[in-house]
Amino acid sequence: MRASEAIRIYFDRAADHLDLSAPMRRLLLTAKREVQVHIPIERDSGELTTFIGYRVQHNDARGPLKGGLRYHPQVDLDEVRALASLMTWKTAVVDIPYGGAKGGIAVAPAELSTHELERLTRRFVDAIHDLFGPDVDIPAPDMGTSGDVMAWIMNQYGKYHGFSPACVTGKPVEYHGLPGREEATGRGVGILTLKLLGRLGRPLPGTRVAIQGFGNVGTHAAKFLADAECRIVAVSDAGGGFHRAEGLDVLELLRHARAHGGLLAGFTGGDPMSNAELLAAECDVLIPAALGGVLTAANAASVRAPIIVEAANAPIDPDADAIFDTRGTLVLPDILANAGGVTASWFEWVQNRQHYRWGINRVRQELGRILAESFEQVWQLATARQVSLRTAAYMQGVSRVAKATVLGGLS
Ligand code: GLU
Repeated sequence: MRASEAIRIYFDRAADHLDLSAPMRRLLLTAKREVQVHIPIERDSGELTTFIGYRVQHNDARGPLKGGLRYHPQVDLDEVRALASLMTWKTAVVDIPYGGAKGGIAVAPAELSTHELERLTRRFVDAIHDLFGPDVDIPAPDMGTSGDVMAWIMNQYGKYHGFSPACVTGKPVEYHGLPGREEATGRGVGILTLKLLGRLGRPLPGTRVAIQGFGNVGTHAAKFLADAECRIVAVSDAGGGFHRAEGLDVLELLRHARAHGGLLAGFTGGDPMSNAELLAAECDVLIPAALGGVLTAANAASVRAPIIVEAANAPIDPDADAIFDTRGTLVLPDILANAGGVTASWFEWVQNRQHYRWGINRVRQELGRILAESFEQVWQLATARQVSLRTAAYMQGVSRVAKATVLGGLS
């Protein structure tokens, strides 16, 4: 199923509970602007390669457009469109003053040299610099992009518009970034997992967690949960994973990945397992923290975890979601579970605009407060309306955007 179709199904379910009119649904589902550009660059070899870049600006009823930039070979307009709409609901669920957008380039970053990636990023900014900016649309890291890419974006944007650190978030701390932004998505996943376990009355120590994906989100979630005395029983990356019933040594895993170009292959502190096995691992909490669409009707029945926390964007397709619903598998949805990243992006943006910077403790404290409050609101709504956490989160997000649309006036 196409990503945008999947999200539309989730949207419709919430819209039915909200009694939204057909014209309002159409407005909320339609992107404000969709841009596709070609990005020709000269490779280090002197050859010419043309890449395709996208930016979908979904909805700005609640504030400037906000969302990451993904570098991945599977990036296409439909995926970016779907992810842009998720950002609209996500920023509304945590009630930060933004709309939603997403961008990307169809490219395998590992196949480009650092210089090629820099050229590609700068040429992309050349193509879209008049479509984003601090009050308009603020990109950030996503899969395949990092602080370095954000630094190039800020620098290139500044060549057209002058010094504007708030035009992009997720920058390196040494280059107008915010301490605590990089860890924020994974940390937020950890914070919300603990909130959920607490609400369910499940004791934390020894909770068995399996994490698919050991990139920025997976690593920080693993570290946070291991510090909270959960047992990380399985982790994997694109090359496969490892498990250990007594719990993997997360610091060892991080050390290994750091020493091996970010990859887990060759780790000796656990037994190897495939990605498919990881999704079916014996555990209490399963955290998909990699690509979208990994849990489908074909493999949902094999999942043994009673709780799934969606650290990735759109990892569960609606058929699988329905299976989990009937089986009573509790799903903490992406638009809440991974909202820690964009929340810390908001702090970074505010700081950039004030030319000020919070310390890490203040960032962590504010992040914890916002996520805890948002979780409580979604939990209460789910209980009051007898709906899943996903439907409740969508109801919260969609109703806030609809309300802002009406307040802003349509004429
Ligand atoms: N790419 C992240 C997300 O999907 C962060 C977006 C942001 O910080 O703007 O939520």
